Amino acid sequence: MVSTPRTATELTALKGVGPALAEKLQRLQLHSVQDILFHLPLRYQDRTRITPIGALRPGTDAVVEGVVAACDVVMGRRRSLLCRLQDGSGILSLRFYYFTAALKARLAPGSRVRCYGEVRPGASGLEIYHPELQAAEGAHSIPVSTTLTPIYPTTEGLSQQRLRALSEAALAWLEQGNSLVELLPDDLRADYQLGNLTDAIHTLHRPPASVDLEALHEGRHWSQHRLAFEELLAHQLVMRKLRAQIRQHQAPAMQPSRTLAREFLQRLGFAPTGAQARVGEEISLDLQQPKPMLRLVQGDVGAGKTVVAALAALQAIEAGWQVALMAPTEILAEQHFNNFQHWLTPLGISVAWLSGKLKGKTRTNQLQLIASGDAAMVVGTHALFQAEVQFQRLGLAIIDEQHRFGVQQRLALRDKGAAGRYCPHQLIMTATPIPRTLAMSAYADLDTSVLDELPPGRTPVNTVLVADHRREEVIARVQAGCAEGRQAYWVCTLIEESEQLQAQAAEATWQTLCDSLPELSIGLIHGRMKAAEKVEIMAAFKAGDLHLLVATTVIEVGVDVPNASLMIIENPERLGLAQLHQLRGRVGRGNTASHCVLLYQSPLSALGRERLGIMRESSDGFVIAERDLALRGPGEVLGTRQTGLVQFRIADLQRDADLLPAVQQAARQLQQAHPEVVQPLIDRWLATGQQFAQV
Ligand code: ADP
Ligand code: MG
Repeated sequence: MVSTPRTATELTALKGVGPALAEKLQRLQLHSVQDILFHLPLRYQDRTRITPIGALRPGTDAVVEGVVAACDVVMGRRRSLLCRLQDGSGILSLRFYYFTAALKARLAPGSRVRCYGEVRPGASGLEIYHPELQAAEGAHSIPVSTTLTPIYPTTEGLSQQRLRALSEAALAWLEQGNSLVELLPDDLRADYQLGNLTDAIHTLHRPPASVDLEALHEGRHWSQHRLAFEELLAHQLVMRKLRAQIRQHQAPAMQPSRTLAREFLQRLGFAPTGAQARVGEEISLDLQQPKPMLRLVQGDVGAGKTVVAALAALQAIEAGWQVALMAPTEILAEQHFNNFQHWLTPLGISVAWLSGKLKGKTRTNQLQLIASGDAAMVVGTHALFQAEVQFQRLGLAIIDEQHRFGVQQRLALRDKGAAGRYCPHQLIMTATPIPRTLAMSAYADLDTSVLDELPPGRTPVNTVLVADHRREEVIARVQAGCAEGRQAYWVCTLIEESEQLQAQAAEATWQTLCDSLPELSIGLIHGRMKAAEKVEIMAAFKAGDLHLLVATTVIEVGVDVPNASLMIIENPERLGLAQLHQLRGRVGRGNTASHCVLLYQSPLSALGRERLGIMRESSDGFVIAERDLALRGPGEVLGTRQTGLVQFRIADLQRDADLLPAVQQAARQLQQAHPEVVQPLIDRWLATGQQFAQV
């Protein structure tokens, strides 16, 4: 919600708002007159002219006026009141499934009626169901509206009429010589051709009948542009502020590794790709600076981010600092722990392990290793953020799979700073390809490196769509594949977030598959199992002791079993494409051709077909993310809650993407030339209680 604490005017200043209503509005985060003015319509209805019945088109909303020719209760599938309205140009049916005797009387033949509603094709020609009726007494018609009718976002207990009356009163308040504080300086408004704030607000609440309605509905109107720009600017400023705050801390300057990196690469068994070398170099330069690195490494699944992380870690360790590597799940953290132990122990570096599940003496031991600095490398889950975890000299924090970590946690790292004086360098790695426009906004506080090259020898995954009723064929395919010595995943998904239901579904599938494929050894893994159990199952699968692994989406991130070359995903239509891409990235890691079967519930919606079609056609995470973004919008693609991507009130990252370069430039300009308006802008657009409250 918008709040302008410094200049806010009490709601009760408005006509018709008493303490009771004010309290109700407060619950909707509408605290001041300014809040009401920034509570903008979602869409509009055009009630500014009467459409002749003969000119009505199905699918449009219209105001119609005519004389009732007939009005009867009809029986059909459901009893309804059917009223025939004519105006000389044609006849229209008004249909009511809920009606009273009074309504029937009002619609008696010969009465003059004006109504508003959506025109649809019906059994008896064009119909409007449950139109809003307006009295059109006698021969004198009441005038039509002169402005478009706004439809506001609302919740239960607050009607559109109420909200319209409130915005009416707030606009009247504006006209009584009050105004909204124009925070954007004149020169900036001139540079970016931004209109007047008060006019924009006025236009959006009550667009004149002459407005370009299409532009308005598409968000292209100058008034929307004006507000979207200001909103994006406020977000950009808050991100820059966050970044500046972190960057004003000291960080340890680390010289590039001379020996450890060389030894590591010699033992690795493969050469880094060009992209790994380039990104490694970018990170190395950051680490040499006495300011905290804030770098995001984006790389598609399988691009080899772990090697890049290890190289960064070795530079820090050789320079005498501790490194923490955090992963979002136990399984993934465990896998990193194994990798780092395998890589670093021969180099004489000890690796500590910490997860929430670690208890008792083992935990105390690990905490001790971390606090004493004996473990230069520490791998774990979110547990590493806990207050009891004290590092002796933390110099670098690596966060894997950023999309599951919130901004909060990123900030919490500040406080884990090395030796009380230093803020650790931060390296964030994500396999969620973030479309450039989103990255500019959601990660404006980070520098970005892209691992845009897969290691050699990967064969693209062949993806097919199969309807659920051909399940038997799919099972036969798994059987054949496993008989040839391959391994397969069978992924069960559910809409419910409940781990329990997911686990049940996976268990049921596991049982059926065990019955159909008795000759195979089949494992089961889901989120309700104990950590140790999960690790054991993964190890067995990795070792090749299991042919088939039935799993919930717990295997989504990072799990690496190169011999697995077949994946079945049930109900793929329920998942985001980014998530599907992550899942599919579990196969295609070895050098045999890999297959992914998307076993969908038929019938598939048109959108579902289009989305799964994208998966079949593309194996490029960025292409998939861009197209998913276009189909579903940014909130869905990134998952608003997890990313710390804020909900915009007016701006739309997809629609307004072209504004972002200008917004970035304007943010720089504003910080330099008008630093005094930065905080008021942030206050206006960023709610208290949101993740940026602490900035
Ligand atoms: P992700 O980017 O998804 O985290 P990983 O770091 O898990 O990818 O790497 C995927 C696999 O590719 C691992 O088995 C890793 O050992 C291997 N790998 C990484 N870099 C290279 C390379 N340059 N050449 C060959 N294989 C590599
Ligand atoms: Mg990984």
